[in-house]
Amino acid sequence: MLIGVPKEIKNHEYRVGLIPGNVRQLVVHGHQVIVQKDAGTAIGLSDDLYIAAGASIVDTAEEIFARADMIVKVKEPQPNECKMLRPGQVLFTYLHLAPDPEQTKLLQESGAICIAYETVTDRNGGLPLLAPMSEVAGRMSIQAGAHCLEKSYGGIGILLGGVPGTPPAKVAIIGGGVVGTNAARMAMGLEAHVTVLDKSLDRLRQLDQQFGRRLNTVYANVETIEQAVLEADLVIGAVLVPGAEAPKVVSRELVGRMKKGAVLVDVAIDQGGCFETSHATTHADPTYVVDGVIHYCVANMPGAVARTSTFALNNATAPFVLALADKGWVQALKDDVHLRNGLNVAKGQLTYPGIAHLGPVVS
Ligand code: NAD
Repeated sequence: MLIGVPKEIKNHEYRVGLIPGNVRQLVVHGHQVIVQKDAGTAIGLSDDLYIAAGASIVDTAEEIFARADMIVKVKEPQPNECKMLRPGQVLFTYLHLAPDPEQTKLLQESGAICIAYETVTDRNGGLPLLAPMSEVAGRMSIQAGAHCLEKSYGGIGILLGGVPGTPPAKVAIIGGGVVGTNAARMAMGLEAHVTVLDKSLDRLRQLDQQFGRRLNTVYANVETIEQAVLEADLVIGAVLVPGAEAPKVVSRELVGRMKKGAVLVDVAIDQGGCFETSHATTHADPTYVVDGVIHYCVANMPGAVARTSTFALNNATAPFVLALADKGWVQALKDDVHLRNGLNVAKGQLTYPGIAHLGPVVS
């Protein structure tokens, strides 16, 4: 199969669909890979590395889309990319179609086979191609929060771990899933005082098993969240109700009663945010202040560490890319119900139940 990797064109997107190591794997399996010039240069993946891995470099996205049997990307295709897709061509990337009728229509019109990273499942009911980005965002949330707590960023001026003779900062993490667990690990590593609040007792049990007494686990309700937020120097919002907007677990009124110079990092901002005072920000201007409380609400946190994010994403997508290339999409989807769950649009038809509000879905 001929696999094509275009350079990402969304603003400030530096990730790339295939790393050289995965190119090499495909080439070993007898496939050909074409990569757009400078697709990975911004994150240290030079064209020479791709050539050494067995890829050919081409100048334009047009050539990639015109020649490849399968396109492997990171972000959803932009309108001009959708228009270059061909009937029967496979597109494997993040799509996030539910809130995007315009892209959905363009993908239908293309006649391509569009498989979305974010709806591929695993045998535990998880989303294996979303999890790496949650791992990155969870770990980054503590890094971002620690900076915001410094005076020059407007924070209260507290070091997360303290030093001998001074108390550590109090970190409250609301939601103990993938983001929350990774945030907890980082905060504990910096020797902060860490509490995770979750509505799922099973989740709290797993966290307790994993981390023991170093981590405080608390069942989340109005009372316990209020208490933890009022005591905290840093609060991480990491809740998720699958398929729904994030529940507002911290009210505007509660923010008004927090310590001045405390920090809220709302990782759930991509689902609308879980603090009532949150609105999405960018890496260029990541924070704002409400009632003396610093808010960090970047909707695309993994983009800041594009190299790590690219490798983490590629580690997760590699077996699926290989299966699609080796078997062709029809057989690969027949053999793997979890990859089949990734199929959102095929030959003009919607195929994923989660986008039924955008038109009739065929199974
Ligand atoms: P997850 O499903 O692994 O974990 C979510 C947890 O929230 C679950 O344990 C659940 O029990 C808990 N929860 C749900 N409602 C709750 C409530 N009312 N109170 C307390 N706990 C509650 O999800 P995840 O992968 O950790 O993702 C968390 C959020 O981070 C999602 O919105 C995801 O889209 C977002 N995210 C954002 C970025 C970014 O760049 N901003 C990157 C990756 C993920």
